[in-house]
Amino acid sequence: MNFCPQCGTKIVASWNVCPNCGHNLKSELVNQQPTYDRIPKETYSQQKPQYQVRQYQPYNYRQRSNNTNGIVALIFGLLGLFGVIPVIGSIIGIVLGAVGKNKDDDPRMAKAGLIIGIIGIVIWIALYIWLFSMIFMMFRYMPMD
Ligand SMILES: [Zn+2]
Repeated sequence: MNFCPQCGTKIVASWNVCPNCGHNLKSELVNQQPTYDRIPKETYSQQKPQYQVRQYQPYNYRQRSNNTNGIVALIFGLLGLFGVIPVIGSIIGIVLGAVGKNKDDDPRMAKAGLIIGIIGIVIWIALYIWLFSMIFMMFRYMPMD
């Protein structure tokens, strides 16, 4: 927004003469505007798209979407290992770990998810076998009274 240098009325940039006092605006606005208003706006609008193209896209693409398999594999692997979602969590961890090992940008998390998934499934299947054999033995040696 510009103001008339003589009376202070608000002025539209295209006006030649102030509607309030009749002061000739063109001679002064031409000298003041380019240095203050136009140049910063142009450099600003030219720089912004460059920033978005150069920094935003590769960042989002690499860091967020490309390790999703590994992160999810690790979470489900741990949930499987600690018995929150036994066996099924481990299977999801193994599957997503195997996918993420090839697809992810950083395969370390996917590998960790895969290994934790395998450990989880071995532990839980061993635990279930042990548990069922215990139940079986209990029934077997229980006196049939
Ligand atoms: Zn004026």
